Amino acid sequence: MPVFAQPGTEGSLHTFADRYENFIGGEWTKPVKGQYFANPTPVTGQIFTEVARGTGEDIELALDAAHAAAPAWGKTSPAERAGILNRIADRMEQNLEKLAVAESWENGKPIRECLAADIPLAIDHFRYYAGAIRAQEGRLSQIDEDTVAYHYHEPLGVVGQIIPWNFPILMAVWKLAPALAVGNAVVLKPAEQTPSSILVLVELFGDLLPPGVLNIVNGFGLEAGKPLASNKRIRKIAFTGETTTGRLIMQYASENLIPITLELGGKSPNIFFEDVMAADDAFRDKAEEGFTLFALNQGEVCTCPSRALLQESIADEFLERVVARTNSIVQGNPLDTDTQVGAQASNDQFEKIMSYLDIGRQEGAQVLTGGGPAEMSGDLAGGYYVQPTIFKGDNSMRIFQEEIFGPVVTVTTFSDYADAMRTANDTLYGLGAGVWSRNGNVAYRAGRDIQAGRVWVNNYHAYPAHAAFGGYKSSGIGRETHLMMLDHYQQTKNLLVSYAEDKL
Ligand code: NAD
Repeated sequence: MPVFAQPGTEGSLHTFADRYENFIGGEWTKPVKGQYFANPTPVTGQIFTEVARGTGEDIELALDAAHAAAPAWGKTSPAERAGILNRIADRMEQNLEKLAVAESWENGKPIRECLAADIPLAIDHFRYYAGAIRAQEGRLSQIDEDTVAYHYHEPLGVVGQIIPWNFPILMAVWKLAPALAVGNAVVLKPAEQTPSSILVLVELFGDLLPPGVLNIVNGFGLEAGKPLASNKRIRKIAFTGETTTGRLIMQYASENLIPITLELGGKSPNIFFEDVMAADDAFRDKAEEGFTLFALNQGEVCTCPSRALLQESIADEFLERVVARTNSIVQGNPLDTDTQVGAQASNDQFEKIMSYLDIGRQEGAQVLTGGGPAEMSGDLAGGYYVQPTIFKGDNSMRIFQEEIFGPVVTVTTFSDYADAMRTANDTLYGLGAGVWSRNGNVAYRAGRDIQAGRVWVNNYHAYPAHAAFGGYKSSGIGRETHLMMLDHYQQTKNLLVSYAEDKL
C-alpha cells in the first residue's frame, strides 16, 4: 500500500496555494479588511497556507451575491439542478485521490478513511440529492367538488451554513447538497481550523454553479460566523458544532424568527450484551472491532462511541481482547494508507484531550491502555498525535459525561438490561448509540429505549445518505441526510383554488 507524498513535495497529487480567498459571486475575493490567518497541518504542525480572515463586511458581500442569484436559481428545474449536482459528483470522483490528500493534510485524518469514506460519502451525497429532488412530488387535497388545495415545495431563498473541523469536506457537503438541490443560494462558513480542503473542493467544481449560488466566507466564529448566523438576510441557519455554540445560534435565529438545524455534541453509549462472547468468532470479532471504533477519525466524531457499557459477566474477558486489539491499531503518518489513527485536527484539540487524560486520572479512573501523547519521529514530531486510550471508571465521572472528542473511550459495566438503559441514558446528550446482541428482542428493545437519534444495532459508524441523522436532547434539533432534509430547506406554498363558476 502506498504512502502519498506530502502536498507540495515531489510526486504529490496536490499542491495548496500559498493563500486562499473567499469565494463570493463565483469569484475568489479578497477579504474587505485585507487580513489573513495561518493554516497549519496537524500532520507536522507546520503552516502550509494562509486563508482570508472574513468579517461582517465579507458576509454582506456574500449575501449580496446570494440574493442576486437566488431568484433565478430557485426557478431552475429539478432536472437542471440534479444535472449540476451529478456533474459535481463526477468531478469529485475524477479527483478522489487529490481531494483525499488535501483532506488528510488539512485535518490529520488517515488517508485510508478519506479514500474509503469521507470523499466517497460526499460524492454519494450529491448523487443522492440529485435523485431525491427529481423524485420529489407535491400534494393535492380536494377540498370540495370545485375547490383544490395545491401544495408546492419552494426553496427558502438564501441560507447560512456553519460547519466544524472534524470532517471538513463531508460536513460541507452534508449541508450543501440538499440546500442546492432544492434551489437555495448558500453562504457557508468553514471552521477556522480546516478551511483549505473545502476551498480546494470549491476550486474543483465552483464553475459548475451559476455565480452567487454558492459563497464561502472564511474566518472565525465571532468575526464571520456570528454576522452570518444573526443576519436578517438569511432565511435559515444550519449549524454543526458544539452544544454551547448551538445555544448561541438558536438565540441569534430567534431574533430573526428563522428555522435552524443544529447538529451538536454527543457522548454515545456502545452497549455489549453478554451473548456477544458466546457468539461465533465472526460476530465476536465484528463486535470487538465495533468497540475499537472509538479511535476512528482520532475520536473526533460527534457520534464517537466514547462510553462502552459491558455486561458484568463478560467484562473481564471482553476487555482483555479489546485492549489487545486497541494496542494493535496502526498510528502514524496520515498519508500512509496503512495508518488507522492519524493526528488530532489542531493543537487546541490536542491540549484539550491531554487535560481530560489528567482529569480521568485525578477522578480515579484506571488507564487500561494509552493515556498520553503518541511520540512520532522526523517531521511528524511537530504534529498532534494522541494514543488511543481506554479508561475504566463509572458513569458519574466527568470523562463519562463531557465530550472529549479524542481517541478516548471510557468503560463501565452493567448488571442487567434495566441497568444498561439507565446508564446509557444518563447523559445530557442523545446523538448516537451502539447495541451489540444476537438476541433480537434485546437488540430491538434497546434500540427503542435508548434516547438517541441514531442507534446502530450490530454495526457502528455507518453514514449512508438515505438514513436520517441527528440528535435527541442536547445533541441537536432537526436531522441531516435522508429525504427529510429536503423539507428542512424548503417551505410549503399552498394555492387554494376555486373552480366554481358562481358560488363563493
Ligand atoms: P464550535 O462550535 O466551536 O465551532 C463550529 C463552527 O461554529 C466553527 O465554524 C466556528 O467558527 C463557528 N462558531 C463559533 N462560535 C460562533 C458564534 N458565536 N457564532 C457563529 N459561529 C460560531 O465546534 P467545533 O469545536 O468546531 O466542532 C466540534 C463540535 O462539533 C463537537 O461538539 C462535535 O460533537 C460537534 N459535531 C457535531 C456533529 C453532528 O452532526 N451532531 C458533527 C460533527 C461535529
